[in-house]
Amino acid sequence: MNKEHICIICNNKFNTNTPNKQVCSVNCGKIHYNNKAKKYQKLRRQEPFYKLKDNTTHLVYSSLRNNKQQWKKRKLPFTYEELYKHLKNELPKGYLWNDYLKAELQLEHKIPISWFKDKDLFFSIGWNLANLTLLTKEENWIKNNKYAVVGNEIFLSYQDAEQEFIKLYGGLKHE
Ligand SMILES: [Zn+2]
Repeated sequence: MNKEHICIICNNKFNTNTPNKQVCSVNCGKIHYNNKAKKYQKLRRQEPFYKLKDNTTHLVYSSLRNNKQQWKKRKLPFTYEELYKHLKNELPKGYLWNDYLKAELQLEHKIPISWFKDKDLFFSIGWNLANLTLLTKEENWIKNNKYAVVGNEIFLSYQDAEQEFIKLYGGLKHE
């Protein structure tokens, strides 16, 4: 049964037989979808742990670009020099440090940062040097946050990845 609805985006009346349809057109649908995505992003940013993850990534990113340590108050388990030296050793064959600065290479967390629910483990494992490598942006795009690579193995769950990580790299207690 066709019923008259009012579009929540443009306020135009439209007829549809879909009972909970809220938008009149594909275009209004896109706007509605974008608004919802923005609202969700905003909510996420208000969540303290999400904010901490985001800020830490930006802090490290800008430190590497400015060539100096900027995380005095953060619990990152390495100095700037240690991080820089580690990442230089992680450069894929045929790539230079400049490729990282040009964003051809990206800093990659072998166990994805988004998987961490615990703040201490986020720093001690998530930001452990052994969890950091460099991938080309294409590789990183393919891997996304879909799995973890620890040692040479792929893990689909946080618990399994964490267990293997501790087995390979030790206790990781960190104050
Ligand atoms: Zn509309």
